[in-house]
Amino acid sequence: MAASAAAVMEELRGSFREGRTRPAEWRTAQLRALVRMIEEKEDDISDALHADLAKPRMEAYLHEISLAKGACMFALKGLKNWMKPDKVPSAITTFPSTAQIVPEPLGVVLVISAWNYPFLLSIEPVIGAIAAGNAVVLKPSEIAPATSSLFAKLLPEYVDSSCIKVVEGGVTETGALLGQRWDKIFYTGNGNVARVVLAAAAKHLTPVALELGGKCPVIVDSNVDLHVAAKRIAVGKWGCNNGQACIAPDYIITTKAFVTELVDSLKRVLERFYGEDPLQSADLSRIVSISHFKRLTKLIEDKEVATKIQLGGQTDQEQLKIAPTVLVDVPLDTELMTGEIFGPMLPIITVDKIEESIAHINAGAKPLAAYLFTKDKKLQQDFVSNVSAGGMLVNDVALHLTNPHLPFGGVGDSGTGSYHGKFSFDCFTHRKAVLIRGFGGEANARYPPYTAEKQRI
Ligand code: NAD
Repeated sequence: MAASAAAVMEELRGSFREGRTRPAEWRTAQLRALVRMIEEKEDDISDALHADLAKPRMEAYLHEISLAKGACMFALKGLKNWMKPDKVPSAITTFPSTAQIVPEPLGVVLVISAWNYPFLLSIEPVIGAIAAGNAVVLKPSEIAPATSSLFAKLLPEYVDSSCIKVVEGGVTETGALLGQRWDKIFYTGNGNVARVVLAAAAKHLTPVALELGGKCPVIVDSNVDLHVAAKRIAVGKWGCNNGQACIAPDYIITTKAFVTELVDSLKRVLERFYGEDPLQSADLSRIVSISHFKRLTKLIEDKEVATKIQLGGQTDQEQLKIAPTVLVDVPLDTELMTGEIFGPMLPIITVDKIEESIAHINAGAKPLAAYLFTKDKKLQQDFVSNVSAGGMLVNDVALHLTNPHLPFGGVGDSGTGSYHGKFSFDCFTHRKAVLIRGFGGEANARYPPYTAEKQRI
């Protein structure tokens, strides 16, 4: 295993050193090839996502395929400008001179991807790595095997495999890859494995981007258009892989006075979206694996939790399906309320006054995304000013990730580094400081001997 990881690295290192990945033409050709791949193989991609997660085709298209194509097109459009050096002013200390920041590729980079959006989360960092002129290895998640093997089949058909490779596998294969000296490691997944990645990176002082998760809160004030809010929360939770999404709402905070209305509204919306028996709905993804199914069902089997279920709670182990489940005032020390849920349960915490929500969120780890529904401008401003999160969105859920002008990434426990749009290019680029002088402008005071006369000036 270690030998094959070393062989992959040696080949890519050779390609990078030869300068194959640097020209704009190479980068553009690879990105165009990826667009072609996405267009020509859309059905295969959708089939793979369905095989891995029973992901509804509409979700596969909206949340993975179209975003991936959009990311390629955005990079193709911006690339020429992104690659240009930035001229910056000269300083008096270097007069006369010219100064610029020259973007240069980092080298050979590793992308380790997760299973929940197995197409998008793999391809989007790879797009950034290619745009920035790097050689890249993609290690897709073994928990989404159909998408992983589709990548292994398709990428060599479309892109330059002397510079862009797919290595499939799980812990052993990833461990072997992590033993190599990379110029950057881009990891998406949970915080425990992130620690393994960081430890491996530390050996070679390799920089990392860590795209992690956490408990994403949604504050719901009573001053809202409730029907719209409930639809947006529901689609951002259950319409995103049935809650198996890093930026899906993990829990809601609302007031004691408003919670019944909110639950009623969620109930109506859920019935409209998924019918009387959501376990039979083709519009709801399944749980990815039996181990995740067991982990999730255990969360609501806990007696203290089970009695708090207001909606849903049905499970079907054969199909690996769990119905959208809403709970109210679950004890805060239960596993459901302490760890990231990453599934279809949506607990609601109630407070006396909505303003208390901000302190509640800030008492926990910094989330990847935080959401607020309210028409109250002051509350909106307090939320933006006082809640720390990777990203935030007011009066909707998850959509901030679709704006390529916004960086996507976490802070604190939810990750480090960001990507999307030009941020993906920057993520895999070193901004090199370059100063060019001539031979004029000699200031004798800088040279010894530091005579008394020189020290007077
Ligand atoms: P996962 O099980 O697919 O693991 C992620 C990657 O780590 C895989 O490629 C896997 O092979 C590798 N891996 C697993 N164990 C390893 C080990 N011991 N050593 C080396 N590599 C190992 O995905 P996951 O971790 O279950 O993903 C879910 C988590 O990821 C959640 O916390 C979620 O919030 C987070 N996530 C974050 C984002 C984001 O963009 N910030 C996106 C999706 C998921």
